Amino acid sequence: MDYQNFINGEWVGAKNGQRLESYEPATGEVIGTVPLSQAEDVDAAVAAAKAAYKEWRLVPAPARGEMLFTVAELLKRRKEEISQFLSREMGKVIAEARGDVQEAIDMAYYMGGEGRRLFGKVAPSELRHKASWAQRDPIGVAGLITPWNFPVAIPAWKMFPALVAGNTVVFKPAEDTPILAALLMEVMQEAGIPDGVVNMVTGDGPNAGNAIVEHPDVKVISFTGSAAVGRIVAAKGGKLLKKVSLELGGKNAVIVMDDANLDLVLDATIWGAFGTTGQRCTATSRVITTAGIRDELSERLVARAKQLRLGHGADPETDVGPLINQEALDKVVSYEQVAQEQGARLLLGGERAEIGGGFFYQPTIYDNVGATSRLAQEEIFGPVLSIIEADDVVDAIEKANSIEYGLSCAIFTQDVNRAFHAIRDLETGLCYVNHSTIGAEISLPFGGMKGTGNGGREAAWTALDTFTEWKSVYVDWSGTLQRAQIDNR
Ligand code: NAD
Repeated sequence: MDYQNFINGEWVGAKNGQRLESYEPATGEVIGTVPLSQAEDVDAAVAAAKAAYKEWRLVPAPARGEMLFTVAELLKRRKEEISQFLSREMGKVIAEARGDVQEAIDMAYYMGGEGRRLFGKVAPSELRHKASWAQRDPIGVAGLITPWNFPVAIPAWKMFPALVAGNTVVFKPAEDTPILAALLMEVMQEAGIPDGVVNMVTGDGPNAGNAIVEHPDVKVISFTGSAAVGRIVAAKGGKLLKKVSLELGGKNAVIVMDDANLDLVLDATIWGAFGTTGQRCTATSRVITTAGIRDELSERLVARAKQLRLGHGADPETDVGPLINQEALDKVVSYEQVAQEQGARLLLGGERAEIGGGFFYQPTIYDNVGATSRLAQEEIFGPVLSIIEADDVVDAIEKANSIEYGLSCAIFTQDVNRAFHAIRDLETGLCYVNHSTIGAEISLPFGGMKGTGNGGREAAWTALDTFTEWKSVYVDWSGTLQRAQIDNR
């Protein structure tokens, strides 16, 4: 399967003709190629987006929204085909692959509806015969840079709010999942999105990605990925005074109190820690538990995790798919040494799994993990869970907060007072009571505090904040000069 860049409504190769291979992580086999684009290809995409912006910003927002409804319908029609391919190119199990595509469908409907809202605010003027309100204006060309772990949902989460607000788009998908991005472009084209309004350029981060960040005609950048790259994007974008929205890593915890419903904790923690092979920004990587329940919890967690079946994501029998690539596998393997050095006790796994040529790692559980150890602090992005002991709810919340990230946290308890304590004091953008750290819905803001980002939120009405600027409007119909703060005093 060979795909091209999508620029100004046409499928074109990189100007220098170079190609990038996409691998199937469950087998290590090449499944297709895309252009390995450079700055010159990004230039062409930005020029197309800039030209298209002139007309797109004038298309009434309800009409832009209606096009997103068509996108939703087309995604629904192609859901199974795209989900099956998602299981191959990204590796996640088929049920989760369908969820990934469903998030894009949900977002297309939600943002399509925003075409008839995009609400501004009216404020009473302090002067007679004067009207005042604030409205959302589009910004221009939006540069979208995305990771591989939600290869359909995350691009949709960025693209649809950008478009409904009247921006045009240059999108660079992750190197590991470029063909899925091309399938999404096919849908956009079929939905009748005008030429140049959405453009896609495949390639690597330091070249194609960086060219988007540095391009003077890209006015807003929405980036999801690692904290390390996020810092680079923020620094470069900041220097150019661009609007930059960052969604970065996580190191998410479930807090388990002695009074928790243990069966529920087990279901939620197994799902949160080993679903998507631990490769979610919201994945559960720490269990912080009080002493009364700890031994039974760890014993039963191990028993449950042992039963998980590793395999190809498209096989309906599979519970845990592969890691995305060799580099990701090497990173997870490197934590075996870290765990040993820091005195963690291995309860399960702790080694790779030899399945075909794929990048598989055994579901892994460590006990006796110190809250400040590297195992408990760093984002591993694999199927590795650390058990940490806490004295009580106050200590558990403190330990949960003692990391650089602030994305998601869950507490399991039957005590409403403890639950509200956690809701008040957790430093995370997502907070769950008696539910896993994963499972956000698109109608509420999504994102994190502290090192997980720079204050923005995706999804819901908040996504529009990234892709719009506020314009305050004053209309004076008095026929005289009325001076605010002066003539009314
Ligand atoms: P990554 O940072 O390696 O890459 C993300 C994207 O940035 C890719 O498209 C890559 O090509 C591009 N890139 C790399 N270097 C660049 C540069 N110098 N300039 C511009 N672009 C560049 O991250 P990844 O491995 O693809 O994704 C995993 C990370 O994403 C994890 O840390 C995970 O927590 C995070 N993530 C966060 C969220 C969230 O909403 N908070 C969601 C999903 C994933």
